[in-house]
Amino acid sequence: METKDLYGVLGLKRDASKDEIRAAYRKLARKHHPDANPDDPASEVKFKEIQNAYETLSNPEKKRQYDAGPTSYFGQGSPTGGQGGTGGFSEFSDLFGGFGGLGDVFGRQQAQSPQKIRGEDVTVSVNLKFRDALEGVTTRVRATVEDQCMDCGGSGAAPGTTMRSCPDCGGRGTYTRDQGFFALSESCRKCGGEGVYIERPCSSCSGSGRVSRARQVTVRIPAGARDGMKVRVPGRGSAGRKGGPNGDLYVVTHVEEHPLFVRRGDDFVVEVPVSFVEATLGAGIEVPKPGGGRVKLKLPAGTEDGRQFKVRGEGSPSARKGGVRGDLIVRVRVVVPKKVTKREREILEALADERDEDVRQALFEGATDR
Ligand SMILES: [Zn+2]
Ligand SMILES: [Zn+2]
Repeated sequence: METKDLYGVLGLKRDASKDEIRAAYRKLARKHHPDANPDDPASEVKFKEIQNAYETLSNPEKKRQYDAGPTSYFGQGSPTGGQGGTGGFSEFSDLFGGFGGLGDVFGRQQAQSPQKIRGEDVTVSVNLKFRDALEGVTTRVRATVEDQCMDCGGSGAAPGTTMRSCPDCGGRGTYTRDQGFFALSESCRKCGGEGVYIERPCSSCSGSGRVSRARQVTVRIPAGARDGMKVRVPGRGSAGRKGGPNGDLYVVTHVEEHPLFVRRGDDFVVEVPVSFVEATLGAGIEVPKPGGGRVKLKLPAGTEDGRQFKVRGEGSPSARKGGVRGDLIVRVRVVVPKKVTKREREILEALADERDEDVRQALFEGATDR
């Protein structure tokens, strides 16, 4: 079992004073706070070590026990790391379980094991430029979360004071009332069923162990993000309580609309003007791509207005894992000249004579059919 020197964790000598311990904790906690070191899991592990060390060394009773015999003390004291809880209650009761006098008082509480409570999920939104959503972007969002209180390390007890076994229920968290045939168990009001009670609440968090805080969170928006998509940032929601894990942060995307490229699933639809001559005779044309650049498209002779062509793989990347890139849908709009020159008119009139067709013949036949 790993045994950490709690003084060493805070960079202190064994004879450090209360003020020195507090100062060292505050300095290191700020430096290694996960918010100050996004994307660095090592920092989060370190931060928990620091919190654990401070939790013990700031508490006169626990400090005395630790100073007396650090090896027996640290049964389960090594920090957990990862996305787990941000310290607090589970470590607390583990520690209390280990030694004499207080152990008896807290033994019962430990037996019923405090319920770990996962922190709440928090949702924020982010506005994205069309291109950033298409290509993916790493951005920062501001989220207000319930964060672990730095001053009490999440315990809710004023620094230097302890949590006590609840005097009303004797640490059981419940009363049992005899109702004749059966015994009725009800939760203790004083301690809210916790079995322990905070004699002097931490002034920074009013005893809740958490404080509301705005934090900047770095979030990676995947390429091809759609409007209204939820991007999950694990463990960056509100802090868990009683050793419970943090909630998650959800970032909802609002993607700026493009005036030309309309998203449909992972496809983009773009309307492309085509001259009536090109539409009639066919042509090789170029169309713009959503991310910039152009792609060639062969327009067959006799293309009608509104006809759609699919350019494979030129749509949006899929934001889903393993998803396939979408297509670019080209919708043809045949442009009819508003004005023609005298010569053009002559040519077109000659063309009309040449064709001598009645394009509405089928229409009238259809209209009198039934
Ligand atoms: Zn506090
Ligand atoms: Zn109680």
